Amino acid sequence: MMTETNPDADFDVLVKEANRVFMENFHPKTWFGRCIFLSWYCDVGTCDFCFRSTIKHKIKHASSAKRSLPSILTDAIIGKNLGWRIEFLTGGYRIFSFEEQIGICKKVSEVYGHKIWVNLGSIDKEGLLQMEQYVEGVCASIECVNPDLHRKVCPDKPIEPYSDMLRIAKEMGFKTSMTIVIGLGEKRFDFDALARFIEEHELDRITFYALKPVQGTRYTKSPEPEEYAWWIAKTRIRFPKLEIMAGLTPRRAEEYAGLLLRAGANALTKFPAVRRFGSAQAEEIERQAAEAGRTFLGSLTRLPDIDWAAEVEKLPFEEGLKARINQKIGEYTEKMRLGIQKTDK
Ligand code: SF4
Repeated sequence: MMTETNPDADFDVLVKEANRVFMENFHPKTWFGRCIFLSWYCDVGTCDFCFRSTIKHKIKHASSAKRSLPSILTDAIIGKNLGWRIEFLTGGYRIFSFEEQIGICKKVSEVYGHKIWVNLGSIDKEGLLQMEQYVEGVCASIECVNPDLHRKVCPDKPIEPYSDMLRIAKEMGFKTSMTIVIGLGEKRFDFDALARFIEEHELDRITFYALKPVQGTRYTKSPEPEEYAWWIAKTRIRFPKLEIMAGLTPRRAEEYAGLLLRAGANALTKFPAVRRFGSAQAEEIERQAAEAGRTFLGSLTRLPDIDWAAEVEKLPFEEGLKARINQKIGEYTEKMRLGIQKTDK
């Protein structure tokens, strides 16, 4: 006689087990990991889920899509003071020269007072050598591990150069990580390929994202929260000590932040923390973290009383750059205050 199983009950058991494994291996804390973007243009531009694939033809000059240095550094200064960890410095390929990228890594690491992580494409040994003074870890944007699906989704971004980078970086003493997007068409049996990839490369971290469908691409829906959490929970159980970051999608962030933490994610990322600072969503994320038994390090809702000009003054930057950063910080913090006021009403 066949026994019927209740898929919901199975899922609950899986999440409970993942939470138990997490609690056995980590302190019950969580935080927000902030990605710092360098540009919104990418010279690859053909990954079929990415918003950059929909704007590539509209941007004639990559230089006009670069973020300014004061804006990048303002992001870092605000993040540091709000207790947001830097997830990585990232951006579209071949926008800044390599020397410019090194210069930005140096300055961002000076803001944070420690080495940072980068996700800047496949970097060769020579490039890694130039970065090692400022960079602690490198991340490879793998997106999906099923080779056939990968060829379809990222036709011009093969996995091999990333694999090579991860191996070389590991040998050189860098920490390593990968990103993966759930919702691109992967099947649950692809989990074995993911686990093999993590094992083979001895990764220290993985960042999951839930697909956010972009208009103009072939995708129309995000994965269900349970499906997304399933991948995180399976990864936590298989890799008890791996750092797992879970991206939120802004529209539904507050619906499942707690679920992702209970599924074993260490921390959350991909929330527009400045734009939605102090919002009801940000409040809900912090509340759900507490409900999941985690202490939230830093804040998405309370702006500490900081003398920003004094913070900028401490940095080893030239005066003109400091002046431009001060102006940007004024603009950013004003937005954040307005966010808090709107929620208070
Ligand atoms: S390489 Fe990255 S940024 Fe460029 S199109 Fe692909 S996913 Fe988007």
